[in-house]
Amino acid sequence: MSAAVTETLAGWGNYPRVECEVSRPETAKDVRKVVAEVGSAGSIARGLGRSYGDPAVNEGGSVLELTALDRYLGFDEATGTLTCEAGVSLGQIIADFAPRGWFPAVTPGTKFVTVGGCIANDVHGKAHHVDGCFSSCVESFRMLLASGEVVDCSRETHPRLFWGTFGGMGLLGVVLDATLRLRKIETTFFRQKAVTARNLDELLDAIEENDAIFPYSVSWIDSLAVGKNLGRGVLTVGDHATLDDLKPAMRKAPLRVSALSPLVVPFDMPSFTLSTFTIKILNVVLDQVQSHGASVAHYEKFFYPLDFVGEWNRGYGKRGFTQYQFVIPLEGGRERMRTILERIARSGCAPFLNVLKRFGEANEAPLSFPFRGWTFAIDFPISEKLDPLLKDLDAIVLEAGGRIYLGKDAFVDAETFRKMYPRADEWLALKREVDPDGVFDSSLARRVGLRS
Ligand SMILES: Cc1cc2nc3c(=O)[nH]c(=O)nc-3n(C[C@H](O)[C@H](O)[C@H](O)COP(=O)(O)OP(=O)(O)OC[C@H]3O[C@@H](n4cnc5c(N)ncnc54)[C@H](O)[C@@H]3O)c2cc1C
Repeated sequence: MSAAVTETLAGWGNYPRVECEVSRPETAKDVRKVVAEVGSAGSIARGLGRSYGDPAVNEGGSVLELTALDRYLGFDEATGTLTCEAGVSLGQIIADFAPRGWFPAVTPGTKFVTVGGCIANDVHGKAHHVDGCFSSCVESFRMLLASGEVVDCSRETHPRLFWGTFGGMGLLGVVLDATLRLRKIETTFFRQKAVTARNLDELLDAIEENDAIFPYSVSWIDSLAVGKNLGRGVLTVGDHATLDDLKPAMRKAPLRVSALSPLVVPFDMPSFTLSTFTIKILNVVLDQVQSHGASVAHYEKFFYPLDFVGEWNRGYGKRGFTQYQFVIPLEGGRERMRTILERIARSGCAPFLNVLKRFGEANEAPLSFPFRGWTFAIDFPISEKLDPLLKDLDAIVLEAGGRIYLGKDAFVDAETFRKMYPRADEWLALKREVDPDGVFDSSLARRVGLRS
């Protein structure tokens, strides 16, 4: 392992950018060595840096970039149970296992994420109402604690550590490897349907109706629409395609995987080109998701439309952007969604990508984000007007009994966070037990108070 280097790091939103001491361990032994020598500013694990804000950065402290821990350790072809190091990405798993008929059981909207990152954020996908979060496909993992001890965690062994780690933002220890259940697939294609809705009520009705039929569901809202068109959008729903669903030409390679060569945004775009750029990207995305006439779509288009444009985050320019994702209970949710959309439309903070979904039930993890309700994610470029807007939105979300997703956030304060996550105290008690000296620390932890 080479020596740590000082680098300016950020999350996917390029905000905030901070200086960190970055180590790139290649083995579990290397990880242990760095953790044993950590100074007072602590250390935090980092995967592919696809969290938007500050969970995988540690201003003035150490960052363990774990993508070199990318080895497979075992695979049971009969059950689809895979053991791999935590730096393996879902993209890598798809490339290697989809041709053999296996696919990640839960995936977020990009495949450029590591297994460790998916665990730490307990990520959700388009099928949360059916499949739950990433934790539902994890059987166990091995974690390095601050003491240097490596513990096996599962629902039966160290269950508090197991659940505390999902949504625990890397702050209880470093996940070294994990055992996951993959999903058996006949093809890498999806049957899909798009439903256009003229306003929010139509859209929410369409989601409720279709969620009962299809496991995968996501909608995109035109956040610039106001008045009677407020909340107009497109819902796409789908399910895994079987061999019988494929046209004869597709049946020749039913488990095809793609090597993507994304259109890359070459440098941080100046802000004045933002609107042209975002409109172009939006068109790419909408074209993918709506796929007019194509009732069967490849997984790349179905799950990962944004991966077609590599490094699209740089299109927001040097100031960067954030994603505000919240969940609010279904009860009273329609009215509150309307209030939030109106507040955004009035704010002058041009929102760009907007994604609306309905979550299923919460799991046992104290800091896991999803619970049964409406979840809405909105990208905003960083501007002076943003902080007051987000404060207003926080108040509406809190009043509704909702919360925001730490995996996307860069703004929420400690007091608001504690109110949004009523089980934070339970998690903090565990943190004090396993990491009394605060060896694992991050910019996010300091901001929201997730510290020993
Ligand atoms: C285009 C796009 C679409 C997305 N769609 C979704 C979505 O649909 N649903 C969703 O839930 N999320 C979504 N995300 C967010 C993303 O899935 C999560 O932020 C994910 O955790 C990123 O994984 P990563 O490997 O990049 O982790 P990083 O961003 O590098 O780190 C995330 C967290 O994981 C911790 N961590 C990383 N590795 C380890 C380890 N080995 N041990 C302990 N902790 C570790 C870090 O400390 C940090 O707290 C999306 C992001 C993008 C860019």
